[in-house]
Amino acid sequence: MIATLQNGRHGPLALGALLLVAWPLVFSTPYDLRVFTLAGIYALLVLGYQFVFGHAGALALTQGAFFGLGAYVTGILGARYGQGFLVTFPLSIALPVLLAAVVAAPVLRLETHYFALATLGIAQVLLLVCLLAEPLTGGANGIPGVPGVEILGLSLPRGWPLLLFVWAWVIAGAFVAQRITGGLYGKAFQLMRASATAAQCVGIDIARLRLRTFLFSAAYAGAAGALFVHTLRVVSPEALEFHVMVAVLAMTVVGGRTRIAGAIVGAVLLVHLPEWFRFLESYYLIAYGVALLAMIVLAPDGLVGELERRWPQAPETLPTAEPLPPRSKLIPREPLLAVSDLRKRFGGVRAVDGVSLALKRGEIVGLIGPNGSGKTTLINVITGLLQAENGAVRFAGEPLGGLRPDTIARRGLARTFQNLDLVDELTAIDNVAVARAAFEGAGLRQALLAVGRDPTLERARRQARFLLERIGLGEEMGRPCGDLPHGTRRRVEIARALALQPSLLLLDEPAAGLSESEQADLARRVEILRDDGITMLIVEHNMPFLMPLADRLICLNVGRVIANGTPEEVQADPRVIEAYLGRRGEQA
Ligand code: ADP
Ligand code: MG
Repeated sequence: MIATLQNGRHGPLALGALLLVAWPLVFSTPYDLRVFTLAGIYALLVLGYQFVFGHAGALALTQGAFFGLGAYVTGILGARYGQGFLVTFPLSIALPVLLAAVVAAPVLRLETHYFALATLGIAQVLLLVCLLAEPLTGGANGIPGVPGVEILGLSLPRGWPLLLFVWAWVIAGAFVAQRITGGLYGKAFQLMRASATAAQCVGIDIARLRLRTFLFSAAYAGAAGALFVHTLRVVSPEALEFHVMVAVLAMTVVGGRTRIAGAIVGAVLLVHLPEWFRFLESYYLIAYGVALLAMIVLAPDGLVGELERRWPQAPETLPTAEPLPPRSKLIPREPLLAVSDLRKRFGGVRAVDGVSLALKRGEIVGLIGPNGSGKTTLINVITGLLQAENGAVRFAGEPLGGLRPDTIARRGLARTFQNLDLVDELTAIDNVAVARAAFEGAGLRQALLAVGRDPTLERARRQARFLLERIGLGEEMGRPCGDLPHGTRRRVEIARALALQPSLLLLDEPAAGLSESEQADLARRVEILRDDGITMLIVEHNMPFLMPLADRLICLNVGRVIANGTPEEVQADPRVIEAYLGRRGEQA
């Protein structure tokens, strides 16, 4: 117990659980029990909402609609058709999930604020349908006389039995949410939130991940809606109105967007707040608003996030290193990478303007060129982040055109980013482990079935340590990336790319911002990678760094290849000199 309390994650959890159990024992009038039952229902609703709002980072405003749909399914089937819990409850979950699946296709593609608006529309449509379909839904009056929970002829009385039943579902929901978001999967969500681009480039299918969070949130909301009508014994359009969504949003923000304990704290607190502030009478809403604003300003990660931050953290124990298993070799087709007549424009700017080049297996090729000459754009097109208007990219003989970035990454084409794209809150080792686990194809099933610890994540962490050691990191790999110096972060990014066991590595300005000794060290590591058989395309301005490494240089200028040859030839090429000098002249 002491050990659990000392561990930063479980301390607040244990404390909260204790308070939670004590609360209804102390205040146990029938009214208080009912309020506490409602708190459990909201906790379930918030747990679900955390998937899409917290973990996927999408401002969906559908949680209230899914809740209302779940409520109506149970209300209609229970009151009109006399169905018991074993029929109504699963259907109350299934229908919202189905609705989520249907609307997800058009809606999940939209950018954030349009996404919020579109999801809001869904809730409004549902409310209208419910008001108009009076014979079925009872219209504005709703349906009274919904039975309580009835399982195999046994009916559950209100008060303590219902309260315990609802909270049993909260515990089950919390357990499942913990399995899904606590381990490897949770870290993939963190990467997706920090940078969708980086997540794709380590092989994570973010569309699928987002869709799943949406379906999970619908399932939880449907369950909460069902329990809600069993508690109230009526179902009315109020269940579909916007204030449910507002309450869920407020609870999630107050408790914490991604913390399971936060869902429970937020729900219990905000359900009880009107009771506690009753003496304020008509000033209640103002007090409520002020308290909410204060929360957002003072504790942006929510109460539980804040508590966790202040709780003494046990230092992270590093796993032992474990080498990666050999990757099945590609059929040795030459060239490894062939780019032909690639074109990509942004409006009037021809960023890549008919580039053709080829990389042989085992080569290190330096890609140079003044700022804005299209180097990063070329890498973005090759890795599938941008679609070219014209031309083709072939990798190990296979065309890459039209493939998603995560598919391309999984084939063994890894990259780093010019502006480092790491998750600052995660340790270096977890930043690499999440890529490794994703590459291993560890998914939902493993996350759900792992009892206790997540073995896939544990192995990924051991392999991450191996990769980080190979690129020169020591004990500091147990620290959050945000605390590490720039040069170290660059290496973490390279280690993350190596987690894909790539045969081709594209490095976008890896030496930028490194000290001279760091550059020398990086050059040594790059040579080791080459000896391991990794082909590399290195975008770099830094000639002293690049010259001894590169077998060949390619120079871009205004989107075109202007030189391609040995480092000495290219460096002496008058067009290259002019491109660089010309630009400098312009800038001066
Ligand atoms: P480099 O990496 O060689 O410095 P970039 O590939 O970043 O060059 O940019 C090439 C050209 O394309 C520049 O003129 C830049 O302004 C333009 N560009 C790059 N990305 C975008 C974008 N997303 N939207 C519009 N223009 C862009
Ligand atoms: Mg660039």
